[in-house]
Amino acid sequence: MAEAAAADQSGKVVIKNIGLLLSGDIDQPVLQADTIVVQDGLIAAVGREKDVDTAQARTTIDCRQTCVAPGLIDSHVHPVFGDWTPRQSQLNWIDSMMHGGVTTMISAGEVHLPGRPKDIVGLKALAITAQRAFDNFRPGGVKVLAGAPVIEKGMVESDFKELADAGVKLLGEIGLGSVKGGTEAATMVKWARAHGIQSTIHTGGPSIPGSGLIDKDVVLEADADIIGHINGGHTALPEAHVCELCEKSQRAIEIVHNGNERVAIAAAKAALELKCPHRVILGTDGPAGSGVQPLGILRMVALLSSLANIPAELVFCFATGNTARLRQLNCGLIEVGRAADFVFMDRAQHTAGKTLLESVQLGDVPGIGMVMIDGLVRCTRSRNTPPATEVPVVH
Ligand SMILES: [Zn+2]
Repeated sequence: MAEAAAADQSGKVVIKNIGLLLSGDIDQPVLQADTIVVQDGLIAAVGREKDVDTAQARTTIDCRQTCVAPGLIDSHVHPVFGDWTPRQSQLNWIDSMMHGGVTTMISAGEVHLPGRPKDIVGLKALAITAQRAFDNFRPGGVKVLAGAPVIEKGMVESDFKELADAGVKLLGEIGLGSVKGGTEAATMVKWARAHGIQSTIHTGGPSIPGSGLIDKDVVLEADADIIGHINGGHTALPEAHVCELCEKSQRAIEIVHNGNERVAIAAAKAALELKCPHRVILGTDGPAGSGVQPLGILRMVALLSSLANIPAELVFCFATGNTARLRQLNCGLIEVGRAADFVFMDRAQHTAGKTLLESVQLGDVPGIGMVMIDGLVRCTRSRNTPPATEVPVVH
């Protein structure tokens, strides 16, 4: 398994003969360029091959007219430690997600740790340990942003300061711990925000026995940065309440695979009607009772494009640039200076769609031909997607 050390440097990489370049930017989702130049893991140039410096590359990739997009970002996962999840006793699930095009994943809490501590010292220690462990270990090269404490009653502002000072940048889903009331959650969300920690709230019915309902009034009062799984995880709020959340809140609208699919479509449509598609981000919410979904983000892209009738090039932005901007990540967009995290795709063999975008709009997931993280090739033809019609060639 490719566990690349952070110290590995890509040198100069030239990616040429790109047939379709998706930018991740919802305001301009397709770029008129066929070449990307990477220097030591960062994008150094984007343009026409004749206009950029392609000389003396360590690695050259001929895309053979296939599509390049920013690596997909899963906004909502529940990792524990290493490339193992106790939730379904599964190994190598993160590497498998990489084969589904995911290059960054964001923890919504390490909630599945057997014996997870719920006392305040214990939950802080777990968060700091998880943040450190995934900073040091990247299964399949995937950037796992972890260390997301599940807040509990009794926490005070200095706890948030202490977490922030130790490098914690996320809260686990609010509502999975003892803090379930809107007023109490709002106070802690403000403390977190004041110390640079981003918050997510569980939305909808209980996920597993022991967790609780978080309704629209609690979500609005808590005012967390991310309306976590607005389509439920699993059980959704009534569709009208979900649309009301899209309208009354200005926060990120997170739609997940392990939620209600009908409400996923309604939430995406509501965001478009409200002219705020930049707020929509995608996650899987795996591992969970539904298992893990290596193709979960691609399946969400196909679902929303085909059944919410949203152009595929826009839906890819939900899983890339939107998330990067809302979560302040240096990936997710094809721009000079950003991380060279890419997924190389083509239409799946024998799809009814004549192009990659058309195939997605018809509901098919694309085939992945290569995944690159920090300018390093992490996999060639995916073991998990249907086979891509054409795949890039490395020179
Ligand atoms: Zn949840």
